[in-house]
Amino acid sequence: MEMNLSTLAKHFSDEGAAWGLVESMRWPDGPVCPHCGDRNRAYFIRPRNGQRTTTTGRVSYRRLWKCKACRKPFSVLIGTIFERSQVPLSKWLLALYLMSASKNGVAANELRRTLGVTQQTAWFMLHRLREAMRLGSMERFSGTVMADETYVGGDPKNRHESKRGSGKDGRGTTKVPVVSLLNAATGEVRSKVVANVNGMTLGRFILMNADPTGSTLVTDSFRSYGPIGEHFAKHEQIDHSAGEYVRDGFSTNRLEGFYSQLKRSIDGTHHNVSEEHLQRYVDEHDFRYSTCKMSDARRMQRIMEQAKGRRLTYRRVTAA
Ligand SMILES: [Zn+2]
Repeated sequence: MEMNLSTLAKHFSDEGAAWGLVESMRWPDGPVCPHCGDRNRAYFIRPRNGQRTTTTGRVSYRRLWKCKACRKPFSVLIGTIFERSQVPLSKWLLALYLMSASKNGVAANELRRTLGVTQQTAWFMLHRLREAMRLGSMERFSGTVMADETYVGGDPKNRHESKRGSGKDGRGTTKVPVVSLLNAATGEVRSKVVANVNGMTLGRFILMNADPTGSTLVTDSFRSYGPIGEHFAKHEQIDHSAGEYVRDGFSTNRLEGFYSQLKRSIDGTHHNVSEEHLQRYVDEHDFRYSTCKMSDARRMQRIMEQAKGRRLTYRRVTAA
């Protein structure tokens, strides 16, 4: 099935169709047992009287399978961000679609109105979806990699002061620093909320995400990039203070575009992101930027694939 808004629409209101779609997205070659990994030998457990009901007597559309190898029952939601949620799967699918298709993110308030759920449920659903958007691959970038850092969100109490103060909007403010690395060849971005922007912190982040052997690091002339730059085959430093923005075809302009979009999302869509949750919004933005050439349907499929093994409990969100 070609996935777009018109073909997906019925799955957003028909719970049975939603279950069928999630099964076909997660199990394109037939059911896979989440307990033992056995493929395509499970059989469908047909509900008695044709309908399965919940403990409260409502009709349940949950589709149960039983594994022939380990004899355990399972559903397509086991081990995913959707497991044990009270929210109907059709609403989850709509939320997933909105997250996949949006450019600047989805606000909890907007999702609350669209789905007819509580504010708290909407907020929790969005955090679960962000968990699935976290980029899975930990393989280090190589080739030409660009690093830059910016300051976002932070404590609103400080924000006003930093605005009013000397008008500083960069190094030395009370906002929260975020450092990013961009793979020039693939367009992938990885970002991290950091405690400070000293050479040790930036260096550690860059080394964890890029292989310096034979690679070129492109940064501006901020001195914190000096020590880590020496590990790379080449370090191109662009001196913005001297009015330089591109040298030998290298620039950090793409990360500046990434940051202005991140700030639009955080300030424009979410208004107020607390420091403790900032990394999740940054992960979401990394995902969106890194997959910007994909179709909405492909992006939706990718989130669905990553929805596994990332179950997020309410306690973990609030304690994060
Ligand atoms: Zn099994």
